[in-house]
Amino acid sequence: MASQTVVNIDIQGKLPKVASGKVRDLYAIDDDKLLFVASDRISAYDVIMDNGIPGKGALLTAMSIYWFNYLPTQVPGLKTHYINNSLPPVLSSLPELKDRSMQVQRLRVIPIESIVRGYITGSGWSEYMKSGTVNGITLPAGLIEGQKLPKPLWTPSTKAELGGKDENISPEKARELIDNAKVAAKVEELSLAIYTAAAARAEETGIVLADTKFEFGLDADDNVVLVDEVLTPDSSRFWPKETWEENLGRAQPSFDKQFLRDWLTGQGLKGKEGVKVPEDVVMKTAEKYREAYEKITGKST
Ligand code: ATP
Ligand code: MG
Repeated sequence: MASQTVVNIDIQGKLPKVASGKVRDLYAIDDDKLLFVASDRISAYDVIMDNGIPGKGALLTAMSIYWFNYLPTQVPGLKTHYINNSLPPVLSSLPELKDRSMQVQRLRVIPIESIVRGYITGSGWSEYMKSGTVNGITLPAGLIEGQKLPKPLWTPSTKAELGGKDENISPEKARELIDNAKVAAKVEELSLAIYTAAAARAEETGIVLADTKFEFGLDADDNVVLVDEVLTPDSSRFWPKETWEENLGRAQPSFDKQFLRDWLTGQGLKGKEGVKVPEDVVMKTAEKYREAYEKITGKST
């Protein structure tokens, strides 16, 4: 897999750029297809670090592709935007981009982040402590941080513009934003079914899938299609199953950015811009991503 650490992707102007996120850049191949290119950038506490994590973009791409192949075998009728992992001919002079790229169908994105939580943590835990609810849904009293929920919950959020912050919304509000009852019901149903299938798979490999974020789009026939990246450590909370129980009631170690977050907090750099991560933290973080990939897919890198 990619040996160099790539923070800035340079495709030499060969395709028009459609968007650039914290980690990925998106290019238009033609009217129907997009190219997703994952860099080695890493963000923590919503800030991108100055240096990257070697291999990360390729690992995230491979993980997404693993799930795009696996999920339709588990969730009947599931369609995904994934086409293939080859480079379009116009990029044939840049073969080093292949491992970090995937071609997808270009669709109309449904304007919510479709989050599913199987465990209570993060912003869900914060809301629960204040009001006993998560996204306005009342939960039983007495839950502790990190506990498994009685059943997985659909807890959507808004999709903020770049730089903005997504806000948790009630399922009713999400249905309003989607503005089509049939589509909204399908998004909820697919999200819960995908989470359940993925959590079962992850559990077999020693990983707790605490929560995750999906995005969906609509194709020309208004079919609901799974888009974006899926079930990577950037879009999901992966916890080691082994230490889950002993860590109930406090923050769980996560499979990806734990070393980085601990280092940032220890140095008083949490939320600061322009941070260069030292080599040992980079290496340990790279190792965590590799471990998550190898556990979930059963493949070695
Ligand atoms: P970040 O995730 O870094 O906070 P972001 O969401 O803007 O920022 P990305 O996730 O890299 O950045 O951007 C991907 C964008 O592409 C999202 O807006 C997503 O909705 C959109 N997208 C994903 N899949 C498709 C698709 N198949 N067709 C059209 N747009 C898509
Ligand atoms: Mg995103």
